[in-house]
Amino acid sequence: MSGPAGVLVVGASAAGLATAEALRRKGYRGGLTLLGAESHPPYDRPPLSKQVLSGTWDTERTRLRQPATLSELDSEIILGDPAVGLDVATRTVRTASGLALSAEAIVVATGLRPRTLPGQGELTGVHVLRTLDDSLALRPALLAASRVVIVGDGVLGTEIAATARKMGAKVTLAGPQQAPLESQFGSSLGNLLGELHAEHGVCLRLGTAVTGLTGRHGRVTGVRLDTGDELPADVVVVAFGATPATEWLAGSGLRVDDGLVCDSRCRAAEGIYGAGDVARWQHDALGTSLRLENRTNATQQANAVAANILGEDQPYVPVPHFWTDQFDTKIQVHGLPNGDAEVTIVDGSTAERRFVARYQHNGKVAGVLGWNMPKQCRLRRQEVVDALSAPVP
Ligand SMILES: Cc1cc2nc3c(=O)[nH]c(=O)nc-3n(C[C@H](O)[C@H](O)[C@H](O)COP(=O)(O)OP(=O)(O)OC[C@H]3O[C@@H](n4cnc5c(N)ncnc54)[C@H](O)[C@@H]3O)c2cc1C
Repeated sequence: MSGPAGVLVVGASAAGLATAEALRRKGYRGGLTLLGAESHPPYDRPPLSKQVLSGTWDTERTRLRQPATLSELDSEIILGDPAVGLDVATRTVRTASGLALSAEAIVVATGLRPRTLPGQGELTGVHVLRTLDDSLALRPALLAASRVVIVGDGVLGTEIAATARKMGAKVTLAGPQQAPLESQFGSSLGNLLGELHAEHGVCLRLGTAVTGLTGRHGRVTGVRLDTGDELPADVVVVAFGATPATEWLAGSGLRVDDGLVCDSRCRAAEGIYGAGDVARWQHDALGTSLRLENRTNATQQANAVAANILGEDQPYVPVPHFWTDQFDTKIQVHGLPNGDAEVTIVDGSTAERRFVARYQHNGKVAGVLGWNMPKQCRLRRQEVVDALSAPVP
């Protein structure tokens, strides 16, 4: 397969690397450049809030590929040099160090940046968790902390709370929902997750938003709630969402709207594609635009992008999937469950803490969730596939 004369992938992580590998696997032999802002070679993020933070893995184990495998890609890998601008007409990316890299096809795979609280940068003791360096900085801080507050009642916040608690820290989880992950899981399973955390000693301060941080002499002392209360802390982890890393596309003329806006082929403009957490694309089977923040999507969307770069003209219509590991619980989700859906336990039971829940919206299966029941959940995934392929009434 010939394909374009050159491909430049911006973002050297899960989606970027997977795009490059898929291109080669499909027989692309042209020039290939991978450009990354971080100085580390491509590594995996899911272990950062679990194995790396808890100290059960060293950093080497997070590497997505060994050096020999990376060199087999026969590509130029430029690290530690963020893209700062894109000229769409000439398909040229400028980097912070002053490089101008042109290619016939460009893939935007720059992921997300954590949201922060006002004044966060001026206080020590406040952390985010997105990168390997973040995880390596947070671990000793948690080990030395006497009181930790996690701001964020979503997947990342609850994972960090679980790991920090297992490391022995005194942990409070704060967030605006009545139960963790309520907007995705609904109130009954959100409450079950809350129970799991409470049983392991996590203090829950939910149903009230965090409005800011308090500090003294440049060090954090706690977080302020909109009730006026303050939760004291010597370490605060801010994990309440992230925004697509698209600032370097400003002035390019590409449409950015909570992510790089792409068509059903993950194409933002002629020869320009988006993959992974940063990309918002038109999901033809769901009839809506979607942006997913999960590891499975990073690889699957990269495969679709590589296929489309090589002229296969495939719409990208995945069944969304993510997992989370918290304490002794493994949760798998297929499809798009949400808090408004009708939830039915279809295998196992919540009392046993081993079950599969089915989410239905307007009588149609929107998703399934497995709680310590991965195999059964995988089987139930077919119900989501069937619902997705059913004609829209
Ligand atoms: C701590 C943590 C735990 C997670 N756990 C799970 C989990 O259990 N299950 C799950 O399904 N998902 C999980 N995820 C989500 C999953 O890791 C992401 O969906 C996945 O990493 C997305 O890959 P990506 O390549 O699109 O983006 P990223 O992995 O964010 O990679 C983007 C890369 O682009 C680089 N970049 C940014 N701006 C520029 C620029 N201007 N120029 C060049 N490079 C740039 C960044 O430095 C980064 O290396 C987790 C994420 C985190 C942070």
